[in-house]
Amino acid sequence: MRHVAIIGSGPAGYYSAEALQKALGGEVRIDIIDRMPVPYGLIRFGVAPDHQSIKAVYKRYEKVALSDHVRFVGNVLVGRDVSIDELKGLYDAIILATGAPGDRPLDIPGGDLPGVIGSAAFVGWYNGHPDFAALAPPLDVTAAVVIGNGNVALDVARILSKTPAEFAGSDIVGHAFSALGDSAIRDIHVLGRRGPHQIAMTPKELGELGHLENAAPKVDPADFPPEIDDALLEPGQRKSVTHLRNFTMLDAAKPKRIHFDFFAMPVRIEGDGKAERIVVEKTELDDKGSARGTGETYEIPCGLIVTCIGYQTPPIEGVPYENDRGRFANSEGVIGDGLYCVGWARRGPTGTIGTNRPDGYEVADKIAADIGGAGGRKKRRPGLDRLLDERGVDIVTFRDWQRIEAAEAARAREGSPREKFILIEEMLSARR
Ligand code: NAP
Repeated sequence: MRHVAIIGSGPAGYYSAEALQKALGGEVRIDIIDRMPVPYGLIRFGVAPDHQSIKAVYKRYEKVALSDHVRFVGNVLVGRDVSIDELKGLYDAIILATGAPGDRPLDIPGGDLPGVIGSAAFVGWYNGHPDFAALAPPLDVTAAVVIGNGNVALDVARILSKTPAEFAGSDIVGHAFSALGDSAIRDIHVLGRRGPHQIAMTPKELGELGHLENAAPKVDPADFPPEIDDALLEPGQRKSVTHLRNFTMLDAAKPKRIHFDFFAMPVRIEGDGKAERIVVEKTELDDKGSARGTGETYEIPCGLIVTCIGYQTPPIEGVPYENDRGRFANSEGVIGDGLYCVGWARRGPTGTIGTNRPDGYEVADKIAADIGGAGGRKKRRPGLDRLLDERGVDIVTFRDWQRIEAAEAARAREGSPREKFILIEEMLSARR
């Protein structure tokens, strides 16, 4: 029998567990350890609450979670409650599937002023992440800036634009639902440091902006290269660019506007004790396709700035780390010495949820080859439980989580807005 610990219960973690079961059959016991008291990581705290069809992928992970020999060990922070070295002594292999929940910093003057918020925090706030429940983003202002031209920037711009009715069927948390309902924001500027051909937005998500009840996208036709150049784009990108071109022709007079500011590089953020405006430099593309400043600047008055410029994996003591790429140092998922990584912790924050699946399968095959299916004299689960018990760590099991989920669903059926973190806190404090 072999024993594997997977750190992180998001998509990469559950795909790895699924793959290990296929590779090692009944010869493997898997503990999925998560710092949060609830499973599914990015699915619960990252995917937008109005994208329920994407969130539905959790059903696949639930099958794995409920299968024999897989255990969820929630509310345990590796690096604080238990070290990597201790886990190495307990398990035959360890897979780091910790995702990339930290914001890449926006390194410009004024980037730390109140009102400047990273997307991990902002998205966590509207998704009920307990770390960001008290964020209180300034929504009493009339203009917001969203920095970045990826799908997260689209999520943030869309969530800031929707009417309360448009959140029907979503699982947005109550505090965000009411704050957004009272929001005074009317102009949302989405800043891209390059042009329409260089966006990192996918067509389905971009297309949604054309169908908002109260908000309309505004795109300047002068920002585009000649239309004939679209033929050179990869088909998905061409579709996205076609959406943008169609937005230039929209003539909808709606109360909110989503302005696409292309060739716009943030230079500094200014304000008296809080963000009041952002200074932006116009750019052009250099011969490598990177953004190069032109020296021409302009200002956008705004009280909320959400940076959506990518994420990074938090380092863990004892695990080699690549600072410049914000991920664990690894060679095709192998860190060394029984330690592996998958998903964003391995590759950096790119790709869709499904992109994490092959990572899990590749690493499971490597583990099967490295440790095989028989033998093993490690202390495994009982060893971990003893260690955590001695340290007073309050483990949350999958059964605990199912009770929270049932309570959340019951509240939602009664029409109460979801307050996920409150239910988690209630459960933990009732035990103390
Ligand atoms: P992303 O796709 O990598 O986009 C990051 C954006 O930030 C890029 O436009 C980048 O511009 C810009 N940027 C980076 N540094 C910057 C700086 N210093 N100043 C100004 N702009 C800067 O990252 P993401 O939006 O965080 O998404 C992460 C991953 O999750 C992606 O694979 C995404 O597709 C996925 N995701 C998918 C969905 C969905 O399918 N519905 C939803 C959310 C996220 P450059 O290109 O010039 O570097």
